[in-house]
Amino acid sequence: MDNVTTPATTAVIDIKGITKTYNVGEFDLQVLKGIDLQIEAGDFVSIMGPSGSGKSTLMNILGLLDQPTAGSYALDGIDVAEMSQHDLAIIRNRKIGFVFQNFNLLKRTSALRQVELPMLYSGTKGRAQKAKAALEAVGLGERLDHLPSELSGGQQQRVAIARALVNEPALILADEPTGNLDSRSGKEVMQIFQKLNREQKITTIFVTHDSWIARHTNRVVMLRDGLITADQRIAEPLDARTAERPSEAEELASLLEMTYYGGKAEEYT
Ligand code: ADP
Ligand code: MG
Repeated sequence: MDNVTTPATTAVIDIKGITKTYNVGEFDLQVLKGIDLQIEAGDFVSIMGPSGSGKSTLMNILGLLDQPTAGSYALDGIDVAEMSQHDLAIIRNRKIGFVFQNFNLLKRTSALRQVELPMLYSGTKGRAQKAKAALEAVGLGERLDHLPSELSGGQQQRVAIARALVNEPALILADEPTGNLDSRSGKEVMQIFQKLNREQKITTIFVTHDSWIARHTNRVVMLRDGLITADQRIAEPLDARTAERPSEAEELASLLEMTYYGGKAEEYT
């Protein structure tokens, strides 16, 4: 590409006034109602919100899979609206790794081949070696020839993560990646994302329903009815290697105390 310029800020993502309206039969359904969001390089952000609040719609726009109805989007300082379809496809392939709730793996394809695929599109050399290294990095070095049906949900998601990583993206977009996993696999997946963010400074945006999972990220953005309703930094994110999920009884107890004592639970325990 010849239109790449040095970004003026360190914001990887800078969106302003993003709206998205779907036409459903005779109705227009406005799903995003004016979203402003800046995300700095290396940040680890979770997006939370009820089902239907527009999280996936926003993720698809951020990932250049869908276009907004209105608003501006600068990705790495480049105005996305000005980019050709051809350049958008290149950026998607080179810069963005996607991870989805349902893994999106090919049924009859081995783990190794799944991870080689994005490199086929980008024309990368030494594909088998790189795919193997990416699978080893997510702890699947012994499962290279396995089909998805021969892997657990957590292992399938790790194949999907290896596939998202193999082109060394600057940005990972994960839409409820732990949504279909049991707590233990969810925790393993979280460990991988944290490690990537910590060691390789990969900017990561993560949709989750699970507030305990969200507490492993650096910042939580709440979405409701197509608007951002809260945006908070987490002072001390949990470390997935050591954090233990509280029991439901503990969580309920702390929730009730917090509510009753106006957030000053520690004074009464
Ligand atoms: P979330 O991921 O937060 O659950 P979505 O972004 O998937 O929410 O969807 C938000 C709203 O937009 C929902 O009401 C959904 O039915 C609607 N929606 C999503 N995609 C389309 C589409 N392609 N056409 C029409 N409506 C859609
Ligand atoms: Mg969704």
